[in-house]
Amino acid sequence: MLQVKASTGLVALLGYPVEHSLSPLMQNAAFAATGLDLVYLAFAVTPSGLPAALAGLKALGFRGANITVPHKEAVIKYLDAIDPAAARIGAVNTIVNNDGRLTGYNTDASGFLRSLQEAGFNPAGKKAVILGAGGAARAVAFAVAGAGCAGLTIANRTLERAGHLAAALAGLSPPVKACTLEEEELRPRVEEADLVVNATSAGMAPMEGAVPLPAAWLNAGQWVYDLVYNPLETKLLREARQRGCRVISGLGMLLYQGAAAFTLWTGKAAPVEVMGEVLRKAIQDSHAAKSAPSEG
Ligand code: NAP
Repeated sequence: MLQVKASTGLVALLGYPVEHSLSPLMQNAAFAATGLDLVYLAFAVTPSGLPAALAGLKALGFRGANITVPHKEAVIKYLDAIDPAAARIGAVNTIVNNDGRLTGYNTDASGFLRSLQEAGFNPAGKKAVILGAGGAARAVAFAVAGAGCAGLTIANRTLERAGHLAAALAGLSPPVKACTLEEEELRPRVEEADLVVNATSAGMAPMEGAVPLPAAWLNAGQWVYDLVYNPLETKLLREARQRGCRVISGLGMLLYQGAAAFTLWTGKAAPVEVMGEVLRKAIQDSHAAKSAPSEG
């Protein structure tokens, strides 16, 4: 059982909103499993409150923090230093406080790559299509490009945003194509891809019925990764699996970005089995609660 003492170190989650985040459960389980005297707390911080919250991390001696939507890009200008990989991506999801000096990191990209490689896919020399151009898509695009993919397409509902991400990747990867989600543009790209990543919110609870593209465009043997982790198997992954694709859920990225952040704060290897189990149970419980008949 968690014992908060006068000596207990603090780690924060800053976002808006934060109440649905699974990170407090995952990180507190990790601190407990490794016997660390640390506690992880979530704070709903509005955009205008962000500078004061960061000053508060310093003033109160927090060990570090996670940063989530909508602050991952805005936080950069308030930090004392930024890791080069996070600077290239243009987004920070983890902060370490070294004696009042805040350094920003991006563990979304490394977490995505670790989960992809663990599943058995190496992006080097492969063609990838990323659906979406928001914060998560940025991390995924830089991860895949940095791992040496042979071709990259960024497809987004809003073409302009896809174009900005493609431009940011210039020099890091082979030419990047930006397009919309329309069949005429996207289908040929999907059909020749080795890896298709959904980095849009389509399919995320409560929009479980939504898919970012029709499964009919997918072929057996392709890899399909859905960043959405709630539900654990999205409609896209279910349909892709039925067509013979190899599928990966967003749980691995969530787990490994958290594991990398844990190591940055503590200098220790993260207890990934414990953390993964906590996440899986929390997601399954939330589904069981939704499908249970309501009382009264
Ligand atoms: P974001 O910055 O708000 O971007 C959302 C993206 O989804 C944009 O590209 C947006 O297109 C697109 N989109 C939204 N609704 C859509 C729809 N109905 N049809 C097609 N495209 C749609 O959000 P984010 O932070 O990148 O997160 C994106 C997803 O990744 C979320 O589901 C999030 O839960 C998940 N995620 C997972 C992890 C993990 O660890 N597994 C980590 C981060 C994020 P427009 O630009 O046209 O609006």
